Amino acid sequence: MQTSIIGYPRIGSNRELKFVTESYFKGASTEDELLAKAKELRFAHWKKQADGGIDFISSGDFSFYDGMLDTAFLLGIIPKRYRDLGFSGVDTYFAMAKGYQGEKGDVKALSMRKWFTTNYHYIVPEIEDDTAIALKGSKLFDEFLEAKAAAFETKPVVIGAFTFLKLATYEHKQASDFVEQITKAYVDIITRLGNLGAQWIQIDEPILVTDLTPDDNALFTQIYSALLAQKGSVKVLLQTYFGDIRDAYDDVIALPFDGIGLDFVEGKETLNLVKSGFSPDKTLFAGLVNGKNIWRNNYTKTLKLLTEIQKHAAPVVIGTSCSLLHVPYSIVPEKKLPESACRVLACAEEKLIELAELSLLGGDNKYAESAVYKSNRALHAGLEKGVNSAVTSRLGSLKESDYIRLPIRRERFTIQKQVFNLPLLPTTTIGSFPQTEEVRKNRTNYRKGNITKEQYEAKLRELTARVVNFQEEIGLDVLVHGEFERNDMVEYFGENLDGFLFTQFAWVQSYGTRCVKPPIVYGDISRKQPITVETSIYAQGLTNKPMKGMLTGPMTILNWSFPREDVSNKEQATQIALAIRDEVLDLEAVGITIIQIDEAALREKLPLRKSDWHREYLDWAIPVFRLTHSGVKPETQIHTHMCYSEFQDIICDIDAMDTDVITFEASRSSLAILTAIKESGFKAAVGPGVYDIHSPRVPSEEEIRATIETILQTVPVEKAWVNPDCGLKTRGNTETIPSLKNLVVAAKKLRNTLKV
Ligand code: GLN
Ligand code: ZN
Repeated sequence: MQTSIIGYPRIGSNRELKFVTESYFKGASTEDELLAKAKELRFAHWKKQADGGIDFISSGDFSFYDGMLDTAFLLGIIPKRYRDLGFSGVDTYFAMAKGYQGEKGDVKALSMRKWFTTNYHYIVPEIEDDTAIALKGSKLFDEFLEAKAAAFETKPVVIGAFTFLKLATYEHKQASDFVEQITKAYVDIITRLGNLGAQWIQIDEPILVTDLTPDDNALFTQIYSALLAQKGSVKVLLQTYFGDIRDAYDDVIALPFDGIGLDFVEGKETLNLVKSGFSPDKTLFAGLVNGKNIWRNNYTKTLKLLTEIQKHAAPVVIGTSCSLLHVPYSIVPEKKLPESACRVLACAEEKLIELAELSLLGGDNKYAESAVYKSNRALHAGLEKGVNSAVTSRLGSLKESDYIRLPIRRERFTIQKQVFNLPLLPTTTIGSFPQTEEVRKNRTNYRKGNITKEQYEAKLRELTARVVNFQEEIGLDVLVHGEFERNDMVEYFGENLDGFLFTQFAWVQSYGTRCVKPPIVYGDISRKQPITVETSIYAQGLTNKPMKGMLTGPMTILNWSFPREDVSNKEQATQIALAIRDEVLDLEAVGITIIQIDEAALREKLPLRKSDWHREYLDWAIPVFRLTHSGVKPETQIHTHMCYSEFQDIICDIDAMDTDVITFEASRSSLAILTAIKESGFKAAVGPGVYDIHSPRVPSEEEIRATIETILQTVPVEKAWVNPDCGLKTRGNTETIPSLKNLVVAAKKLRNTLKV
């Protein structure tokens, strides 16, 4: 049985790509050094797959920033404002990814969005009315040839035209206006790959796992019937992932694809679809090994499923359920995890081994006797997770009323107005301040044992005192302590909760050069001890202004972790919510009057199909969030913060989180959410981010003022907050200081005009 990999991580097992790219941004590395490192990484990744015996190895899945952006480049879709900078290819590419501010101009980055149900973010292509889509780039071909020259036979991978058009944004035109151009471009891509000797090409169409309209189906068929008619001898694999393709299955089967890649892990209907009929002239690429989670595959279940699949389709190639981009490289370097945990974990490299083993077992009708199979079965039979009976009984005794905060928000609003007496347009930040060299050194020194706990904590206090001073000096209204003790908003809490495991090197790319190290839920969750209380007491002691307590919410902690597979997400989230609730009440008890519970990743586990949103997720996730704060006094002000996704369509659910204030990312998505807020009769006070912190640009006072004015066209002034669109930890002080000064001055000036 053959094996296939949809895509491989690219940041480097030691995050080499991150470091060289960031060094290039700073001017410390040359373009040649950047390219050389990239080449080295690609080679390493192909070699791993080849050594692992993978038959279908991907090329073209490497990226300096993002695959959607690569596809835009390939198709010559570069908005005018970036072309006008007159940069080289690489620098134009990075200007689109992160914005540019300098001698040559001042342009914002393209928007960024979450990639389906992952914590990976893609760059949203922007198709202008006069864009002429055509094959322009060469990266895909260069990498295919590079692999070939290194003796790796690969299948080039490209994001498909349909997904690309559906995820892009437009000026006045729409997707259907570009169908002919884009189809021609893809025909050119396939033809060229064919000429270069590619046997197979993988075209990714993950959008097929979402709800499709009849127009979508028509568009899909229009693109692919034209494309496949001209594909020549190259074999085309239509690859889907993150769910099943129930709305498109019949169309897909009817088209002359050579291979179809389906997700049997997340695709609830996938097996039924295949049972309804598969095509005898197509190869089924079956996604059987989870590409999003890090648990060892259960061979008994998988082989049973495979047997079932083989009754309806042949030949079958086995693979991962999605690109391995979403898991870390390997579990091998983890020396601090208990041995019992390591045995049940599988990252990218271990998944290569699983595929190789499954391919042998899958072709062997006596597999039940094989040692490999037996050891896997023993592993899963012996799986014991840390059960905590106190957690179980606490969950069991929850009542309806535990999920409801009283009095109602309108009454709280009046009470809090008096208590806090904040000015109109109160200013605040989202929590973190720049993680400067000094901040990181403090952490590394402590971790390496170079400094004592006392020294480490003294430094944290010094950093906090400085940042509190700064905030007072520039006149922010609600202050934060800066989060210098946090490496990551989830890891920090997880480390203080029982039931989580932490890795040292298991990084996963989040966006661009940014990586996260998701914790692993390994047992029942409970709070070991108060987490942020001491820090908050210290920071509040430095100022008379309100100091926000800063917590991460249960949905974000869960959604940014690798969840258990033996207990429902709802149950895991409830356990975390109770731990955070304890922390909220402890903060309130020591006099912290404003508490922010971040839910940056609330939307992340929203099912891709709208019909599943409430039933499978929101109906329990929103109440679970409320559990964190339903016990506080009316005068305690609860904030939440959300970022990086579209909120319009779940705006009522967000309001049902029942926080007093919500701040959110809006600047990169053109404040589109404001209309939704107005139309939904949103009740919480809101702080739509007034500038984009994901770019080093410094917004001017006028620019911020104009943004606030736009906000005030839809948000009543007594409910509007002024803040950046996210935490500042990825920024430097160079841009943060002037940006925040501009923000405060803009708000103050506007406030003065509003008073009269
Ligand atoms: N409070 C967090 C911070 O400022 C929020 C981060 C986030 O939303 N991603 O860093
Ligand atoms: Zn944010």
